Amino acid sequence: MMDVGLIMKSDVVIIGGGVVGSAIAYFLSIDKTINITVIEKDSSYQFGSTARSAGGIRQQFSTPENIRMSQFTIDFLRNISSHLAVDDDPVDVSFIEGGYLFLAGDAQIPILYNNNAVQTREGVPVALLDPDDLGRSYPWMNVSDLAGGSLGLEGEGWLDAYGLNQAFRKKAISNGATFLKDEVISLEVDGSRVISAQLKNEGKITGNTFVNAAGPSAADIASMAGIHLAVRPKKRFVYSFSCRTEITRCPLTIDPSGVYFRPEGHQFITGCSPAAKNDPDCLDFDVDYSWFEEHIWPILANRVPAFESIKMENAWAGHYAYTLLDQNAVLGPHPSVTNFIFANGFSGHGLQQSPAVGRAIAELIQSDSYQTLDLSCFKFDRLLTGSPIREINIV
Ligand SMILES: Cc1cc2nc3c(=O)[nH]c(=O)nc-3n(C[C@H](O)[C@H](O)[C@H](O)COP(=O)(O)OP(=O)(O)OC[C@H]3O[C@@H](n4cnc5c(N)ncnc54)[C@H](O)[C@@H]3O)c2cc1C
Repeated sequence: MMDVGLIMKSDVVIIGGGVVGSAIAYFLSIDKTINITVIEKDSSYQFGSTARSAGGIRQQFSTPENIRMSQFTIDFLRNISSHLAVDDDPVDVSFIEGGYLFLAGDAQIPILYNNNAVQTREGVPVALLDPDDLGRSYPWMNVSDLAGGSLGLEGEGWLDAYGLNQAFRKKAISNGATFLKDEVISLEVDGSRVISAQLKNEGKITGNTFVNAAGPSAADIASMAGIHLAVRPKKRFVYSFSCRTEITRCPLTIDPSGVYFRPEGHQFITGCSPAAKNDPDCLDFDVDYSWFEEHIWPILANRVPAFESIKMENAWAGHYAYTLLDQNAVLGPHPSVTNFIFANGFSGHGLQQSPAVGRAIAELIQSDSYQTLDLSCFKFDRLLTGSPIREINIV
């Protein structure tokens, strides 16, 4: 007789236990009657996007749904222990509400004002600053080439991304979810349904619903079901540096060039996305130190003269799961493989969207429709019809 290996069963099988897969598992696990299995190949949780994230959360988006997701996240973070504490142990993800400051030159001012109108309509506490305001508030900043800035007054900042991932995971487990250390190597599809996932070590698992939460590997998982998903892994670098001069009250600051910096303890971190033509698909973790020396440092030194004398302390690489069409999330079932749900393509904002996405995908699985925040604009079909949801950044 042929050995088919162990066959497990679960109501919901989530592929990927990063912050998105773990958040989905947590929100589903609130209903203790649902059997949930998360398959995660990396027991260190160090090689997905989450642990390599810069940990930022902002409300300054131009798409109302992105703003509303961040608003939910802020509320969730402010009450995180009431959601995620296990055995009454308080949860601390080191959330620092330091604000985001978008800087604009003359060219970006119209976009800054348009975005401000959307944000104000959505109830985002945000202030437009002119160069004099900027100079007064941030005396360490060179404002001579700036036309203005937009500062989030509350509900923006940064947190421990790995810590949030683990808090979701631990709470989901305490509610009864199973996290299995294994790798999905193929999917069995019958007509419009995924039937089972073949695992590298432990046989296979059947399920009623399968969720693709595989981060930068999302397209590989989709292709196992014969689905083309235009989400690609794109490498990003984060550099940490120290500066002898004290820089007070520094928000996460985004220069008009796209270079960002923010405090991290007594140091700072910085980074910048490359131009599209210099952004190949990539899954290695090699750091390009010359990108810091040649591109980032001169921009930092122009914006903050004290950054002329800094010391780079550390650097790491991670990967965006980058939606080629519009760099926005892809959420919900595939139109023809209908029990296969996607939660992918978050580019640089999946950490902050994970609570809202976790809740939304749990609602889809439980009720077949969004119950709280309608995120149907991010549906898979828009990739097929080529209908982007463009986030209008000022850089
Ligand atoms: C440098 C950098 C800075 C960032 N900064 C921010 C920020 O400031 N704010 C923000 O909101 N977002 C930021 N992001 C984006 C954010 O980190 C991601 O959007 C988010 O972490 C995505 O979470 P995820 O769970 O989808 O993916 P991941 O964390 O990558 O999790 C996917 C998991 O799937 C597992 N997996 C893959 N294939 C398989 C398989 N076949 N079988 C089993 N398991 C599998 C992987 O091991 C991985 O753990 C940043 C990203 C990077 C790289």
